[in-house]
Amino acid sequence: MDSSKVTLHGRQFRVMIPDTEIDKAIQKVADKLNARFSSPDSRPIFIGVLKGSVLFLADLVRKTSFLSEMEFVRISSYEGTSSTGKITLNIPLSADIEGRDVVIVEDIVDTGESINFMLSYLKEKNPRSISVCTLFFKPDKYRYTHPIDYPALTIGNEFIVGYGLDYDQLGRNLKDVYVLDE
Ligand code: 5GP
Ligand code: MG
Repeated sequence: MDSSKVTLHGRQFRVMIPDTEIDKAIQKVADKLNARFSSPDSRPIFIGVLKGSVLFLADLVRKTSFLSEMEFVRISSYEGTSSTGKITLNIPLSADIEGRDVVIVEDIVDTGESINFMLSYLKEKNPRSISVCTLFFKPDKYRYTHPIDYPALTIGNEFIVGYGLDYDQLGRNLKDVYVLDE
């Protein structure tokens, strides 16, 4: 079987970004975080946004060389008839982040609805700083002004799957990133 193609829910996808390239991009983000958090008094809290960021977070933290903690939240977005997504918080944050440096870890920033929700949600908890890491960033679709501090890879408007990202829950386990082959 041709492993450069995969069929999910009857639709065919082809490899767009191989795992080696993803790994290099994550190393660059880790290098920046290692410089940013070199001071021992920081000890940031990574906040992974479930479910898509799990693979990215796991690989990213193993490339960091500072002390850190790890927490998770789960949000989901529902698209209504308008183009504005409504975000629901399914699993809230259980840690106290007041006065702490937090690093949000997202799988992908598209319109920015999800990251904007996360920023407002976390700001209310009075952290010392909030940085945003995302594996993928679609700058042409981003509708907000808050800077995305550490985008690993910038892409166009295409729909991608793999490396944590799903097509109706399938494809998260793929080690490469795929795009619709149509
Ligand atoms: P937002 O528009 O809020 O920035 O992104 C919302 C969510 O849509 C993301 O967290 C992700 O779950 C999903 N999403 C956006 N673009 C893609 C994509 O290209 N592929 C996949 N699998 N999910 C995406
Ligand atoms: Mg997400």
